[in-house]
Amino acid sequence: IVAGECSAAVYATGMHTELGRIAHLTQTAGDTESPLQVEIRRVSRLVALLALGLGLVFFAIGQAIGLPFWVNFMFAIGIIVANVPEGLLPTVTLALALATQRMARRNALVRHLPAVETLGSATTILTDKTGTLTQNRMSVRELFAGGRHRLAAERWPAGGDFHLRAVARFCHSLKFPADQPAGDPMEIALWQFAGPIPEPGERRGEIAFDAERRRMSVITRHADGSGQLWCKGAPEAVLPLCTHWMDGDTAHPLGEDTRDDFNRAHTDMADRGLRVLALAWRPLAASDEADEAQLALAGLVGLEDPPRPDVHAAVERCHEAGLRVIMVTGDHPRTAVAVAREVSIVRGPSPLVISGEALRAMAPAALQLALDAPEIVFARVSAEQKMLIVQALQRKGEIVAVTGDGVNDAPALKTADIGIAMGLSGTDVAREAADIVLLDDHFATIVNAIEEGRAVFGNIRKFLTYILTSNIPELVPYLAFVLYRIPLPLTVIQILAVDLGTDMLPALALGAEPPHPDTMRSPPRPRHERLLSWPLVARAYLWLGPLQAAVSLTAFFVVLQAAGWRYGVMLDPRDPLYLQATTACLAAIVVTQGVNVFLCRHPREAALSFSITGNRLLLLGLTAEAGLLMAIVFSSGGNWLFATQPFPAEVWGGIVVLALAFGTVEELRKFVVRRWGRAESPSVRTRAV
Ligand code: ADP
Ligand code: MG
Repeated sequence: IVAGECSAAVYATGMHTELGRIAHLTQTAGDTESPLQVEIRRVSRLVALLALGLGLVFFAIGQAIGLPFWVNFMFAIGIIVANVPEGLLPTVTLALALATQRMARRNALVRHLPAVETLGSATTILTDKTGTLTQNRMSVRELFAGGRHRLAAERWPAGGDFHLRAVARFCHSLKFPADQPAGDPMEIALWQFAGPIPEPGERRGEIAFDAERRRMSVITRHADGSGQLWCKGAPEAVLPLCTHWMDGDTAHPLGEDTRDDFNRAHTDMADRGLRVLALAWRPLAASDEADEAQLALAGLVGLEDPPRPDVHAAVERCHEAGLRVIMVTGDHPRTAVAVAREVSIVRGPSPLVISGEALRAMAPAALQLALDAPEIVFARVSAEQKMLIVQALQRKGEIVAVTGDGVNDAPALKTADIGIAMGLSGTDVAREAADIVLLDDHFATIVNAIEEGRAVFGNIRKFLTYILTSNIPELVPYLAFVLYRIPLPLTVIQILAVDLGTDMLPALALGAEPPHPDTMRSPPRPRHERLLSWPLVARAYLWLGPLQAAVSLTAFFVVLQAAGWRYGVMLDPRDPLYLQATTACLAAIVVTQGVNVFLCRHPREAALSFSITGNRLLLLGLTAEAGLLMAIVFSSGGNWLFATQPFPAEVWGGIVVLALAFGTVEELRKFVVRRWGRAESPSVRTRAV
């Protein structure tokens, strides 16, 4: 199903070629067992045991009061079948598949079905900065050269900035298809900033960028063999290689004072959220080895990469939802903190900043302790170190979602509970290692996907509440029959008609509910939270179920009483009056279940606050339910199969009134809980860590 959903989503986006590959990966990806699957198995086992126990007890009761063996046997089987939630697995699959589909519409492509729900239980998001939080649309804002700050827009005295511009123009690994630069947005920004300048010879070589060195160089040579080396990179990686600095066209030796000036300019720009690069060069004689040494520092540039517009709001939603957001970047600590502050990942005065270097020296236990800090930014961290952070968080019991785009991110993506790869900028390797692929590389998409994932758990609970409710009006008639010696109000086949028939589709539809607005207003559910919680069981078995049983038994007795039946009179199973009475009992269960679907849409919020058309499957399920009931009551086939017979119209009216009363009583309970009850989810803004 997911594979289908995903390829549909892929084609919908129109990016067939690139994303077709992702769809392919989706189909071949092996599934791992998620916490939800474990929990579903637990619930299934629990309920199956309960069903078996009930079946045995009822069998024993029947034997004890001397009913025929086959009657007891059939009844025990009926009880067991009625209590086993047959719809659970299809509902889980449907809930996950529909969440997957909604996620795809919101630009998150799910590669493993269970990842949907795991994402919903995430407690921490470890996110990249560049491209995920920011637009990755860089532009040069400021310069520091010749001993002073300048804005990028300022014009320089003619020729005064030649070397700075030359590094910006020639030191890159851009490609030029159709004469337009393509590649790293930062390099494009530098190239554009420099503008056209005379070629300094021919490009002869490149010392490639890598995340460890944090710099790169390009070598150009003239026909006579002389030439230049152009180097750019993180200031910490370039300044130590410089022996001179450029003031206009003249190179001065780089003394400690000037070095301090550059460092100060660097931190200054970084504090304003700019990514700072040092640009340097050296002339090469024909015999010179082209190595990165004895460089002359041409200057610093500060590049701006604005945050994506709705990242701020998305981070706020995370705070509200009790999710921790930790930034991991290769950028400078100050730049990182400034950007983190801009998007409100950091709000306090002193976030904990851990650099890659510090991380390397940290024992795992120390890192785990450090992760207790409420606000953390990792800076100058390499992709390989991401995995250490993920592992440390997991040892603290966090469920970690991590983003990544590079080949080196794959181990972290695999280790994390949910690996999230970038669909636009990411590499194939990263996408293959991930559970979820973002089609727009956008942080806000992660938060939307978490919302969808969270809804799944709630939807399965709604389903369970619904189907467990009707088990009570199925059991109580038999108890009444045994204890009070009345005619059996609901036969085994009629029980099955509800459980395997009318209940099925509406229950399934509850699994398809879209997320409620309150989904992201409470902290993540605790790791060991049970699907079958006490409030859920109590609501279904001790409240809604008994109410429903009361309605259905009332319908049964009203039909009998109206025909002059007296307590103590046993009826022949073929007596038309008996057939009518059981049919009324069955109809009452089905009609109240029809109302119950709406009640089960939320354990606290009023049914009327939900849009009727918000879930089309629900309407479909109700229609099917009504159709089935009509067929059971009014068709000759239904009458034959389920031993039913139409009953008087007034009783129908009574059933509808009672069903509405049933709904009103539950809504009153919800109202009381909303008004005076203890908040179901305390308004925890940030989870205690
Ligand atoms: P991020 O986590 O923000 O993607 P990167 O690992 O890409 O960070 O980059 C880390 C640092 O390496 C940057 O802050 C910059 O100083 C330097 N850097 C990045 N790309 C280049 C490049 N193409 N040439 C030179 N230096 C670069
Ligand atoms: Mg990067």
